[in-house]
Amino acid sequence: MLPSQNQTSPVLIEPVQRGATLLQDIASAQPGPGEVMLWWLGQSGYAIKTASALWYVDLYLSEHLTAKYANTDKPHIRMTAAPLRGPDLTDVQWLFASHKHSDHLDPGSAPQILAASPQARLILPTAIIDYATTLGLDRARLIGTRGDETIQVGPLTVHSIPSAHPALDYTEESGYPFLGFVFQVDGLTLYHSGDTLVYDGLADRLRRFEIDIAFLPINGTNERLLRLGTPPNMNAEEAVALACEVRPRLVIPHHYDMFTFNTADVRDFERIASAAGVPCAVLRCGARFSWRRPS
Ligand SMILES: [Zn+2]
Repeated sequence: MLPSQNQTSPVLIEPVQRGATLLQDIASAQPGPGEVMLWWLGQSGYAIKTASALWYVDLYLSEHLTAKYANTDKPHIRMTAAPLRGPDLTDVQWLFASHKHSDHLDPGSAPQILAASPQARLILPTAIIDYATTLGLDRARLIGTRGDETIQVGPLTVHSIPSAHPALDYTEESGYPFLGFVFQVDGLTLYHSGDTLVYDGLADRLRRFEIDIAFLPINGTNERLLRLGTPPNMNAEEAVALACEVRPRLVIPHHYDMFTFNTADVRDFERIASAAGVPCAVLRCGARFSWRRPS
C-alpha cells in the first residue's frame, strides 16, 4: 500500500453536457470557414468538427480500467464521469486511436462504437492491428498507419507522427506503435500528440507544419508512477517548452482529471503557459469549444 495513493473515491467531476444533450450539440454544430469546434470527452478524448469533417480521437468512455485494476496497487479511480458511452455514438465515420493503451483504445467502448456506427473506420498504428482484432474489432474496418506517413481519411489529410511512450519502439516490420496525428482539413492544422515524451526529432517533425492547435499531455511522471510501471508523458513544463519551439497558435492540455493515481493540476499548466506567453485553452469535459483561425 503506497501512502501517497488516495484509495477513496473523489467527488466525480460532472461533464458540462452528456448523453443526448451532448450528442445533439455535436450534431447541430456548424463550424464556419476556418473554424473548429471541439468537445473534450475526458483524458485524451475529443470530438473534433470543422466545416466538412467530424472525427473522434482517443476515446475512453467505459469503466474498463477501473474494473481491470480493482484491488491492485494502482486502482484506476475515475475523476470525471463519462459524458457518453460507446453505444451512444451512432454517427461516427472516423475514430482514431493513437496507441494500444486502454485509455486511448478502449476495450470497453471501441467495439460498441463500431457496432453502433456501422460506417465507422478506426485509424490506428499498423503495429497494433493484430491487438485490435483481439478486442473483437473487424480487421476490414481498421486503417493502419506506420508513423512518418501521410494518409487520406475521407476529407482529412492525416500525418502520423511517432510518439515516445516512453521509447519510439520502431520496427521495420510494422513501424511505430505509439503515434500522434497531424490533421489537415478546411485550412486548419491540428496536432493530437497521443501519449508522448518530448524526444529529439519531435519538434523538427512538427515544425514542418503551421500548427493551429496542439493537444499535449501534461501528466508527466514521478517515482511512484515509474515504480508502478505507468508509462510517462511530458509534464506541463515540457509541454510548454515544446510549444515554445513549435509555436502552435493554441495549446490544449489533455491527459488529466481521469484517474486519481495519474493526473496533474491543469492550473499549474495554465500558469506555466501564461508565464511563457503560450496561448492555451483549458476545456471543460462535454462543453463545446469553438476556435477560429485568424485570417
Ligand atoms: Zn494515456
